[in-house]
Parts: sequence; C-alpha cells; structure tokens
Amino acid sequence: MVGANANELPTDEEYNNKVNRQWSQKALHGRHPYDLSQQYVDTEASNKWLTNADLFAETESFLTAIPDQVIVTRNYKKCVLKQPDTEGLCRRCGKELETIKHITAACEQLAPTEYVKRHDGRAKIIHQKLAEAAQLIDDKSPYYKYTPANVLDNENFKLYRNRNILTDKTIPFNRSDITFMNKKTKKPF
Ligand SMILES: [Zn+2]
Repeated sequence: MVGANANELPTDEEYNNKVNRQWSQKALHGRHPYDLSQQYVDTEASNKWLTNADLFAETESFLTAIPDQVIVTRNYKKCVLKQPDTEGLCRRCGKELETIKHITAACEQLAPTEYVKRHDGRAKIIHQKLAEAAQLIDDKSPYYKYTPANVLDNENFKLYRNRNILTDKTIPFNRSDITFMNKKTKKPF
C-alpha cells in the first residue's frame, strides 16, 4: 500500500510512480522507460503525443509496445515466446534477425523505399512550418497534402529543398533536405 494510511487510495502521482517503477524493472518489457530516462532525452517532449494526439488508448498502448520491443516479430516468437520451428530471420531480407530495431532502421530491403518515405515525410512537415513562419507560404493544408516547392523566396528569406551545397572542401553529404536563408544577415541554416 502506497498511501500514508493503509485505507487511503494512492494519489495519481504515487500510483504513476509505482507503475513506472514496476515497468522499468521488467527485464524484457522495460526498454521504453529505460530509453526515456536517459539524460539526452527530453521526456516531456517525447511523451507529448500521449496527451496531444487524441488517440485511442488501444492505439497508444500499441504504439508504446513498439519502442518497448514487445511486438510479435519473428525474433520475438523464436526467442521470447519460444515457439517451435520458428524462423527468426527477417521476412523481407532474410539476412538478419527480425527485431524491431532491424525493421525500423537496419533492413536493407526497406532502406531504399520505406525509410526514405518516412524521412521525406518528416522533412515535409518541417519545411511547411518554416515556410509558414517566414511568411513564404499561406498554405494551411494538412501536412500530408502539402507539397514543398524547391525554392521559396520573399524579401527576407529563402527556403530551398533538396539543394546541393557548394563547399570549399569536398564533403560526402552536401545535399541538404532543407536550406533556410536569412537574406538580411546572409546566414544559411
Ligand atoms: Zn530485413
């Protein structure tokens, strides 16, 4: 019993702390709270989608299970559920174990298509927000309908998309997704 008096119900904070503690201590299912507790993670910002996105509780729990790596991947079936005769390798590339990390970031079959789509989808949102803030567009369409122009330009700012940057020294990655230029200060970002 957490409350001061055994008959008293715990406060929300006490209850949340207790549940979090139990979750973090689980050997297999505590990866997400462990990752969130790292010093370099902004916990509040990382959890905002839980209070701001208006999702169903079932969707939230499913999405939380992904970083917690409790999704029935082939590797999970084989190594955690110990299902007999289970193939643990990735069903797309067949070369590495099918774990959440492999699916989300390492599969050579998904890299040229799905990862690029995901990356470009995020870049589009940032492009739209920047363009709005700099008054380069007046487009209020939802992000999934927004098509970023290659060049946007007004009196004060310039915004380029997928532009090669000329550098004095040769650098391996000189194509920038988004280049934002303040014309007055001539400072690019
Ligand atoms: Zn794969």
